[in-house]
Amino acid sequence: MLMDNCIFCKISKKEIPSTIIYEDEEMLAFKDINPIDKVHFLIIPKEHIINLIECNSDHQDILSKMLLLAPKLAKESGLKGFRMMINSGKEGGQEVFHIHFHVYGGSEKLAKL
Ligand code: AMP
Ligand code: ZN
Repeated sequence: MLMDNCIFCKISKKEIPSTIIYEDEEMLAFKDINPIDKVHFLIIPKEHIINLIECNSDHQDILSKMLLLAPKLAKESGLKGFRMMINSGKEGGQEVFHIHFHVYGGSEKLAKL
């Protein structure tokens, strides 16, 4: 399900531009518009899932695919190691309510949002 007013659904549908680094039928990865490190990209499912709090066993497959995509894309981005962050819920610092995995690294001191 794609949500009309969701910025990441719009990115997924190419209605707004982004720097896409990976795409398949189920997932998309693109550079964060406001990077907190030398490399910073987001991995999203094309399906509109709100956050980890709303996930259940039905989402195991897509979540594991997103997780396993992270080291592959980090390596392709030149990173030897990386940090992941999944802000979940307003109180967890989530601002875009379409689940996304932050993947970042590249500087000596790792940033935290
Ligand atoms: P969060 O606080 O986890 O919801 O983070 C949302 C992230 O989405 C932030 O790091 C933003 O910089 C990023 N973001 C928001 N809009 C865009 C956009 N149009 N393209 C790429 N990244 C975006
Ligand atoms: Zn969405």
